[in-house]
Amino acid sequence: QRKFFVGGNFKMNGSVKMIKSIVDELNKGAFDGSNADIVVAPPAIYLLGVKDSLKQPVEVAAQNCFTESSGAFTGEISPNQLKDADIHWVILGHSERRSLFGDTDKLVADKTKAAIAAGLSVIACIGESLEEREKGVTNQVVERQLEAIAAAIQPDDWKKIVIAYEPVWAIGTGKVATVQQAQDTHADIRKWLAKRISPEAADSIRIIYGGSVNGKNSSELAQAADIDGFLVGGASLKPEFIDICKVKK
Ligand code: 13P
Repeated sequence: QRKFFVGGNFKMNGSVKMIKSIVDELNKGAFDGSNADIVVAPPAIYLLGVKDSLKQPVEVAAQNCFTESSGAFTGEISPNQLKDADIHWVILGHSERRSLFGDTDKLVADKTKAAIAAGLSVIACIGESLEEREKGVTNQVVERQLEAIAAAIQPDDWKKIVIAYEPVWAIGTGKVATVQQAQDTHADIRKWLAKRISPEAADSIRIIYGGSVNGKNSSELAQAADIDGFLVGGASLKPEFIDICKVKK
């Protein structure tokens, strides 16, 4: 039985004032942690403030981190610093990092390795572009992205990973994957995990869907056998995020 997982990725959005009001709404949500693990990822500058003002059991995640633990890497944050600041989660390999900031499969894998070594849990993002989907290579793309991670970490490390399947064409476009499209890819990812890692890993790892998830489409998506939660972008900044966190599987 996999516990439902809902992540809110604020991306580079918000202000002190806006993020305070989101945290107030989340705190009013009075989550008891029984329905889902809930993790929100504000921009780095707001991480500690959000962590300190959020009521349990909602947790915070960073949106990225580097591979090294400290040193001359201006502008970067290390996984060890996140851990030191009592932040337990980091999103890695988001498609915007991959397409805009040069995060290759190898770099994402190295960051994942470093994050797990520092004691963090990782929301590892994968997903194909529209062109790749139309070419029919979705499975090859997600398996290539996962294989890079598998090559960098130990089989046991997968316990610390939530896989976020985010088809690039569905991100920020309002074009959500159909339940069938998401379910098919999630099932393929689970098959890959069973073969490449272990049947136990395949059973226990949460595979969450991201891409235009909102308060309306989330309940239907949640019913698919292999969808174990969501990574929500735009809607995580809106009141409907509370409804998504309360979706019943
Ligand atoms: P949207 O929900 O805005 O499509 O973004 C999804 C996403 O990229 C979450 O990481």
